[in-house]
Amino acid sequence: MAREIDPKTARPATLAIHGGEHPDPATGASSPNIVMSSTYVSEKPEGFSAYELTENSPFLYGRWANPTVRALEEKVALLEGAQSATCYASGMAAASAILLTLLSNGDHVILPDVCYAGISELGRDTLPRYGVSVSRVNTSRAEDVAAAMRPETKLVFIDTPCNPLMRLTDIAEVARIAHAGGALVAVDNTFASPVGTRPLSLGADLVMHSLTKYVGGHGDAMGGCVCGSSELIRRLTIEANVHYGGVLSPFNAWLIARGASTLPLRMRAHQEGALALGKFLEDHAGVEAVMYPGLPSHPQHNLAATQMDNFSGMMTFRLKGDGRAAAAQMAEKLKIAHYAVSLGHHRTLVFYMPTDDLLSSSFSLDAAQEEDYRRFAGDGVFRLSVGLEDPADLIADFDSVL
Ligand SMILES: *Cc1c(COP(=O)(O)O)cnc(C)c1O
Repeated sequence: MAREIDPKTARPATLAIHGGEHPDPATGASSPNIVMSSTYVSEKPEGFSAYELTENSPFLYGRWANPTVRALEEKVALLEGAQSATCYASGMAAASAILLTLLSNGDHVILPDVCYAGISELGRDTLPRYGVSVSRVNTSRAEDVAAAMRPETKLVFIDTPCNPLMRLTDIAEVARIAHAGGALVAVDNTFASPVGTRPLSLGADLVMHSLTKYVGGHGDAMGGCVCGSSELIRRLTIEANVHYGGVLSPFNAWLIARGASTLPLRMRAHQEGALALGKFLEDHAGVEAVMYPGLPSHPQHNLAATQMDNFSGMMTFRLKGDGRAAAAQMAEKLKIAHYAVSLGHHRTLVFYMPTDDLLSSSFSLDAAQEEDYRRFAGDGVFRLSVGLEDPADLIADFDSVL
């Protein structure tokens, strides 16, 4: 059954459903089976060093590759327009795979001053122990990236829109600067999803996702992935999958692939709900500011409109009154939205991020960067992941606590 999809002509909604999937040749099953086997019967004696691994190697052992995980890798690679992809047990396993595989003793890496807390902490606590020096840069200012480049800079890592400020980075511009200095560019595309932004088409070398968020989309499976050229993904697979070992379970891959099938449809609804809720919040007397790339009030709305095909469902807002007290009200009284961390699910999630806590626990900012951060975040911001409920019900829910 030759049912290969042509990625050059098929559109995202089609790729999301059929990418990586094939009717089962043994049974004709239309939906994918889950292959849980950790080992595979060899037809002839094979070598088992990771260095002998190719994309066409027969399946050997679950840490090398698995058919269900491979199907998800094909799907996300098609959605990102990548040659290849590899999956991990979580988004953090994907991020650490990139950082630990590409960086060595003596190298320098540029990390965003504000990004996902786990990645910021890894840059502060782990990389220096391995002799990697780290610069924290507001990557939304390309000139600051250029100024931070050194001869030993091997990687520029970007998070756009960034967590939790929703600041954007011009991927094409930063890729030009990094490549001119001989560095690779990796983009955390979790907030935008591949429906919103395709960083590889803008010049990035690697793109990662927490599949736990939009790609899986239902809050019931953790996972991560990295997409890029076959050569870079092969390096990551050998070192991070086979040697560090944080591989994705086939069951989670199956759940995430099922979620990914509806990603383009869900992202349209996330955007629609976020625009409605964002406008409601912006007009609310108790709200100081809203940061949503889809609203004209976002300072980089023009960049968002060119770099993003979909503004996603992520926004941050700040209240005029006491944020902690409002957070307690939300945790107690919201009926639809869950007061919970994480994002990108069909359920709406909201969580308060107090500035002092984040700055002391996760970010390592200098005085000017801290001032920048506080200028928008004040004492704290609410991170809101607008789900797929009816926007009118969500507005009523938030109206009851604001
Ligand atoms: C959640 C998240 C991660 C980490 O992913 P996990 O699946 O929780 O390990 C990394 N980057 C961003 C932007 C995230 O939102």
